[in-house]
Amino acid sequence: MMAAITAAAAGAQVDILEGGPVLGKKILSTGNGRCNLTNSALDPTLYQGSGARIAAALMKEFNARDTIAFFDKIGIPTVAAASARGNDTWIYPACKEAAAVRKALELECERLGTAIYPNHKVTSIEKIEKEFLITTREGVQFVSDRVILTTGGKACPKSGSDGSGYELAAAFGHTLVTPLPALGALISDSPLCPALAGIRTDAIVSLIINRSIAAQEAGEVQFTDYGLSGIPVFQLSSWAVRALTEGKKVLMRIDLVPSLKLNDLYLRLSERKVRRGLNESGTLLLGLVPDKLVPSLLKLAGIRLHIPCSEISRDALMKLAYTLQNLEFEINDAKDFDACQVTSGGIPASEVSLNLESLKVRGLYFAGEILDVDGPCGGYNLQWAWTSGYKAGSEAAR
Ligand SMILES: Cc1cc2nc3c(=O)[nH]c(=O)nc-3n(C[C@H](O)[C@H](O)[C@H](O)COP(=O)(O)OP(=O)(O)OC[C@H]3O[C@@H](n4cnc5c(N)ncnc54)[C@H](O)[C@@H]3O)c2cc1C
Repeated sequence: MMAAITAAAAGAQVDILEGGPVLGKKILSTGNGRCNLTNSALDPTLYQGSGARIAAALMKEFNARDTIAFFDKIGIPTVAAASARGNDTWIYPACKEAAAVRKALELECERLGTAIYPNHKVTSIEKIEKEFLITTREGVQFVSDRVILTTGGKACPKSGSDGSGYELAAAFGHTLVTPLPALGALISDSPLCPALAGIRTDAIVSLIINRSIAAQEAGEVQFTDYGLSGIPVFQLSSWAVRALTEGKKVLMRIDLVPSLKLNDLYLRLSERKVRRGLNESGTLLLGLVPDKLVPSLLKLAGIRLHIPCSEISRDALMKLAYTLQNLEFEINDAKDFDACQVTSGGIPASEVSLNLESLKVRGLYFAGEILDVDGPCGGYNLQWAWTSGYKAGSEAAR
């Protein structure tokens, strides 16, 4: 829709062929139905994939400020809300309704004279001399001198992005960086998972690949019966999934008390042990971590649940302090495309120009998640859709 709006505003005659019954269905699910449409402190270096550098370069042409101004212009004022890290940089529509964002984009397409064809799933695109012949599943054909492919990746296929765009591009000789689920939950066979399922707590999560810390994220971790979820886990998931596909050993290490150094934590626990002398061991962690975590943490440290605090040895106390800061889960797999937010992988940057035009066939452009670009949570992926849509739309119209 952003590509169509930009191209139409530049004077092009634009048709949108949408496979599903409604344009922009995925927008409705974004930001838990509130649509985190950009990030006012967006760091362009956080994009990943072979197109990360193109994404960073194009952010200079259409950035978060432009997005906020664009949405304001089409009737969607925005507000900032606290991010997972507590900064007020995640930008939402002021009405906090993703449906309003989708509708305003659609109305703007219509206002600019764009013809919208829902339920027109494109099944082939051929180039015949200087023109493209586009055929839909319904047997309808369109002719145009430019095509912008914005079919998304494979994430959340129920919204329409089923990966069919990759096949359309392949017909022109385009290849693919293997699409993998990103910004999703991770699966662990650890026996801790069923024991901790349902607990949420703030922590620092470290991703460890082949024994080295690859990245860290702070935020609310959610323990589930199958593994780990929550925004810090989502943020680390695409690195984890790539490492797993390369056969590397992947661990998530969770620090439940990141504000203290290990030795200070040990001293704090020692003070608690004295204060709680005759109370049972579980009271040692009262107020420090969610109550439901306590039995598992004590067990890992080798401390029996109902003994008095005074009976806990110094070694066990040290082990407990260590466990609180080094709760480890071996990661075996990730939730699939049905349950993730974006695709990492897609059409490689080496096959498109800086204008997002195909280097295989003139007149074919790409925008959005179909390209090998993905960003973290916090409005980065929609910003990429707006930025690349703006660029492809203006270049195709030109
Ligand atoms: C649950 C969830 C929450 C998210 N929350 C956020 C968030 O808050 N902030 C953020 O920045 N990002 C978020 N994202 C990611 C963001 O929504 C996507 O990165 C973005 O929508 C990608 O835009 P796109 O236009 O490239 O692809 P899509 O939004 O996937 O749109 C592709 C469209 O192409 C259509 N299509 C596919 N194949 C064909 C075909 N062959 N013919 C015709 N039409 C076709 C599809 O039906 C679809 O409508 C979220 C994603 C999910 C799944």
